[in-house]
Amino acid sequence: MSNLQIEINKRRIFGIISHPDAGKTTLTEKLLLFGGAIQKAGTVKRNKAEKTATSDFMEIEKQRGISVATSVMGFNYKDRKINILDTPGHKDFAEDTYRTLTAVDSVILVIDCVKGVEEQTRKLMSVCRMRHIPVMVFINKMDREGKDPFDLLEEIEKELNISTRPLSWPIGIGSTFAGVYHLYKKQLKLFSAENKMNIADDFIEVEDLSSIELERQLGDKAARKLRDEVELVEGVYEPFDLTLYRSGYLAPVFFGSAINNFGIEELLDTFVEIAPEPQARETDKRTVQPNEEKFTGFVFKIHANLDPNHRDRIAFCRVCSGKFERNKFYQHIRSNKKLKFASPTSFMADAKSLVEEAWPGDVIGLYDAGNFKIGDTLTEGETLKYLGIPSFSPEIFKELENMDPMKTKQLEKGITQLVDEGVAQLFTQNLGSRKFVGTVGELQFEVIKFRLLHEYGASCNFRAISFTKASWITSNDQNQMEKLMRSQANRIAFDKENRPVYLSNSKWDIDSTMREYPDVVFHETSEW
Ligand code: GDP
Repeated sequence: MSNLQIEINKRRIFGIISHPDAGKTTLTEKLLLFGGAIQKAGTVKRNKAEKTATSDFMEIEKQRGISVATSVMGFNYKDRKINILDTPGHKDFAEDTYRTLTAVDSVILVIDCVKGVEEQTRKLMSVCRMRHIPVMVFINKMDREGKDPFDLLEEIEKELNISTRPLSWPIGIGSTFAGVYHLYKKQLKLFSAENKMNIADDFIEVEDLSSIELERQLGDKAARKLRDEVELVEGVYEPFDLTLYRSGYLAPVFFGSAINNFGIEELLDTFVEIAPEPQARETDKRTVQPNEEKFTGFVFKIHANLDPNHRDRIAFCRVCSGKFERNKFYQHIRSNKKLKFASPTSFMADAKSLVEEAWPGDVIGLYDAGNFKIGDTLTEGETLKYLGIPSFSPEIFKELENMDPMKTKQLEKGITQLVDEGVAQLFTQNLGSRKFVGTVGELQFEVIKFRLLHEYGASCNFRAISFTKASWITSNDQNQMEKLMRSQANRIAFDKENRPVYLSNSKWDIDSTMREYPDVVFHETSEW
């Protein structure tokens, strides 16, 4: 096997997704603990915008800082090099999460057993289903009085449109939670709420569930219940099918309690066995295989430097094929420039360090003085562009007003750079003299205003406007397109690539325009 293939086989890159508070941060922390990447829990910083007053600017800044540190966390476990990509659960950062999901090969979905499927769970899973991302489910907080496990599985199947297959089964729940039974390894793990830091949980091997050992360990009632439920599970569910999981149709399910470090080892051990290695990826020209000799990669996230005196940024690049090397020239496809990187970094959870080389499934941080936009592709010369980082329509639109005419240049530059980073989308009218900023949350406007002032010295205001949706428009009928753009000029604007969008403020509004212009196509996203 080639060295490249060996490195590819070692790597796994995944995202943890959840509705806020389900336990994503706690689970991440425990996974890192298993990997030995951190020595104690509490090291992964919580990234919680919802607990802060939106006007608390410093807090926003602090959170941005934290999310740089936790954007990518690498750790080693059982000969695998695993990268976790952080996905903000807060809905105002949903765009960020969707983009991050373009860089993973699988996800772990965390569900709170008390709350079941929640709003963000639904949204994130619809993106996963769209992209056929393999999903593993961790049902968390089993130490609390939650819903019945069978009901939870049914809820997941129905609401998230995915089949499930439990691979572990809880023994009781809440005050009666006694542990989990690993259905495949046939191992019983008994719950101990005290042993939070002990990662070598004791387990008892039970080859035969009918053995009297079960009564000895669990008592008569719980033993009987477990036997009945396991029988039911094995009767109802098909054996686990790896192909269905890999193609995104079947989610293996684990139960546990992240805070008590329970059920996590089972999850992680199964993850390293079944989660897909770095996969082939689509470009506008062809599919690129990870084991191709030549390096290719794309930028899925850009982070501004926290220090306003250093305007450089970090671009997060997923290596898709070949070997990346420090100080070698690569082609930046959009600008057609050659770039080399003197200090690319890797993101192991315990340290950020310089890398000499990187392989498919790695994420590297590239210091950038303003060359990169989200979605940019790097290659060794071949002209191709990675697909799959579309923009979705923002939900809130405001008009940007310049409050300091002396600083017009700074404002232009600042807003352009923030848009490149993906903080918001910008639509312009009248050759740029009107600027509409679109986001998915109010918080973003606070962030933009603050950063424009502090990083670019430009002060601005946001004026409310009534648009609620942007649709990218195309047509084969040039006449109809021109007619629409002329007769509804106040609703037409251009995105940062100068593509026309139609701005609407209600479903009724867009529906009637669609009827009037049947040959114009209204796209939901910027990629079609
Ligand atoms: P995130 O918003 O998804 O990152 O959630 P966190 O990991 O911050 O957890 C949210 C809250 O749930 C915190 O107070 C955790 O201590 C708590 N929590 C996490 N896991 C468990 C668990 O297994 N049992 C219980 N009872 N609480 C938990």
